[in-house]
Amino acid sequence: MNFNIIVPIKYVPDIEKVRFDTETGRIDRSSAEGEINPFDLNALEAAVRIKEKYGGFVTVISMGPPPAEKALRDALARGADKAILLSDIKFAGADTLATSYAISCAIRKLGSYDLVICGEKTVDGDTGQVGAEIAEFLGVPHSYYVSEIRDISKKNIKVVSDFGDAYYLVELELPALISVTKDINSPRLPTFKDKMKARRAEITVWKADVLADVCDIDKFGFKGSPTTVSKVIIPKEHVKECCFIKEEEAVDKIVEVLKEIGVV
Ligand SMILES: Cc1cc2nc3c(=O)[nH]c(=O)nc-3n(C[C@H](O)[C@H](O)[C@H](O)COP(=O)(O)OP(=O)(O)OC[C@H]3O[C@@H](n4cnc5c(N)ncnc54)[C@H](O)[C@@H]3O)c2cc1C
Repeated sequence: MNFNIIVPIKYVPDIEKVRFDTETGRIDRSSAEGEINPFDLNALEAAVRIKEKYGGFVTVISMGPPPAEKALRDALARGADKAILLSDIKFAGADTLATSYAISCAIRKLGSYDLVICGEKTVDGDTGQVGAEIAEFLGVPHSYYVSEIRDISKKNIKVVSDFGDAYYLVELELPALISVTKDINSPRLPTFKDKMKARRAEITVWKADVLADVCDIDKFGFKGSPTTVSKVIIPKEHVKECCFIKEEEAVDKIVEVLKEIGVV
C-alpha cells in the first residue's frame, strides 16, 4: 500500500541535568546533553511498524539548533528513511504556534503525505499543543492520545484514543495526524550496524528561506509568537528524609521522635 509518513521529533535536553536561566526565562541548552524526546520514540516506532507491514517511507523532521542532528541520526538508526532539520536563527524564540507553523510549512514543502505521527508531548515544554496545531495549519483531521492503531488503508485510519476515563474508537480520513501515547508500543533499540549507517547518512538542513514559497517566513520564530514568558520560577525541591533503625532500637527511637514533634 505504501504509506508516506512524517514524524516530527524534538531534540530535548536531559531533563534531569538541564538548568534554567531564570533571567531570560529560557532553558540553558548548553547545560545538558540532548536526546530524542522520549515520547517521539513511540511515534517513530508506530510509523516504522506501518512501513514494515504495508510498505512506505518515513521522514523525520526536527526544528532546533544544529545539535538536533543527533536526534535525527538516532531516528534514522531506528528505521526512518529521511531526516530534515529546520535550523535557522529565524526559527529562534518560537512559541508553540510558531513551532507548529514552521513544521507544517516543512510538511507542505515535502508535498503529498498520508499520515503525520507526533508524540503525546515533550519532556521539556510539555504543552502537548504542537501536534494539534500542525494539523490545524495543514487542515487535516487529527486525534490525540492514540494508544492503538486498529487498521489503516489508503483512505482512512482507525485508532483507539485513550482519554483516561473513556476509550474512543476514531476513524479518520487520510491524510491525517495522530498523537500517540507511550502505551502504543515499545520502541526498538537500534543495532550497532544501524547506528553506524545513520552516522554516515545525509541530513537535509532547511533554512527558513527554503520555505518561502509555501509560507510566510515572517511568522517563524519570535516574530510569529504571540506568547511571551514573563517569569520563570524554579520550584524548591523538597528533600524527604529517611533513616533506617535496627529492630531492637525501633520502639525507643519512635518514642523519641514522637516526643520531638510534640505528639507525646
Ligand atoms: C514565548 C516562548 C518563547 C520560546 N522561545 C524558545 C526559544 O527561544 N528556544 C527554544 O528552544 N524554545 C523556545 N520555546 C519553547 C518552544 O515553544 C517549544 O519548545 C515548542 O513550541 C514545542 O512545544 P512543546 O515542547 O510543548 O511540544 P509539545 O506540544 O508538547 O510536543 C508535541 C509533539 O510535537 C512535536 N514537536 C514539538 N516540538 C517539536 C520540534 N521543535 N521539532 C519537531 N517536532 C516537535 C513532537 O512530535 C512532540 O512529541 C518558547 C516558548 C514560548 C512560549
